[in-house]
Amino acid sequence: MTLIGLDDTDSREQGMCTTYLAARVAEEVRAAGGAVERLVLVRLNPAIEHKTRGNAALCVHTDLAAEKSLTIAREAVEALAATDDPRTNPGIVVAPGDDAPEPVVEFSRRAVREFLTLAEAESHVESVGYRHTGWGNSRGVIGALAAVGAWQAFDDPTYEYISYRESHRRGTPRDIDADSLFAAADWGYPSAWDTVDRGEGAMVCVPHAPGPILHGIRGDDPETVRAVAERIENEPVERGGLFVTNQGTDAHLRDGTIETSEDGRAYRLDGRVSNAPTTRRGGHVFFELGDGDGALACAAFEPTKRFRERVRALRVGDDLTVCGEVSEGTLKLEKFAVRDLVDTERTVPPCPDCGRSMESAGRGQGYRCRDCDTSAPGKVARPVERDLETGWYEVPPCARRHIAKPLVRGGFDAPTHPER
Ligand code: ATP
Repeated sequence: MTLIGLDDTDSREQGMCTTYLAARVAEEVRAAGGAVERLVLVRLNPAIEHKTRGNAALCVHTDLAAEKSLTIAREAVEALAATDDPRTNPGIVVAPGDDAPEPVVEFSRRAVREFLTLAEAESHVESVGYRHTGWGNSRGVIGALAAVGAWQAFDDPTYEYISYRESHRRGTPRDIDADSLFAAADWGYPSAWDTVDRGEGAMVCVPHAPGPILHGIRGDDPETVRAVAERIENEPVERGGLFVTNQGTDAHLRDGTIETSEDGRAYRLDGRVSNAPTTRRGGHVFFELGDGDGALACAAFEPTKRFRERVRALRVGDDLTVCGEVSEGTLKLEKFAVRDLVDTERTVPPCPDCGRSMESAGRGQGYRCRDCDTSAPGKVARPVERDLETGWYEVPPCARRHIAKPLVRGGFDAPTHPER
């Protein structure tokens, strides 16, 4: 087996896409007499700022010899990558042998959650005797090495079937029949997820950027994602490719505490709402979560759409688990679990005779009703109506990060309220 890791081949302006490059490498591998066992699409740390879009890296698993594989990959990068864009820094790592050694696998796991350096990537590449090539500042070697270890690093494989546009159509509006797409999405749900956003009426599987992708169907099994793609009526496609991925898995999240959370990392954190949600300019909703040792701002930004209603429904005292990336001291919510809801509030007691609110009888002297001459020693608990239940709430599909796990996939530790 030879593993061909690839990364950082596209540019925002020129609209290449590393998945497409990997699909083309796979085709060349087959043309050279090699078999392609799988294509791996790994989403690395979403907090990396020099990513073009989704921080994807790719790996082609083949039985072709390492030397020939490197030649094919190099030629593909030279022919297709946006190497003249100074922000595009492609990297290739070619690994002979069936299994990546543990340090490489660990490198992949860390690449999803931390910032790694090119020096560290190159030192691994050299110590295990892989071949590598880079262009520009060679930063793509980081992602390419992470892609090599990815198949072993992640234990919850999901799939994406990507259909690519014919080259002469790229940059023009995509010709896709929306009704057939929504019908196909329903047909494939819940095994295929995040195909559309019903609430927003959005075709989530269709990218906005120019690039070669027509649509990408994500889900739990390869047959369903392929079948959904085939049910969509659309312009002729140049080719399709099935990728095994770590998308939709929450692989980026780590358990942490409010006090020790750091910028640039994504967490699962427990706490209690310590400041009520407020909506700021632009429609962004903020509240504060505390846990006795510290407090952290949490935000649901405008693009998270109806999720903000869930966040606005929180009250001081609610116990939560929140998930998301911390950036500039604020956790950008991807999902949260309500663990315990405040269901009563302290209020001035009503008069038992007339039913109206009593008045204060003076400091520390309780409450009374002058008209009826009744009294009460202090405030009483009154039940409050809540628009939330215990369990997990999430952003809608239109706001999902590639790596975030949709609730419909299951395996959560409380009831779920999936968006679709
Ligand atoms: P593409 O479609 O080309 O894959 P992208 O959004 O995935 O676009 P890239 O252009 O690949 O973004 O840019 C990401 C860059 O960040 C790559 O050079 C990659 O090697 C590097 N990188 C990825 N993960 C990490 C990490 N954890 N630490 C440091 N650098 C990283």
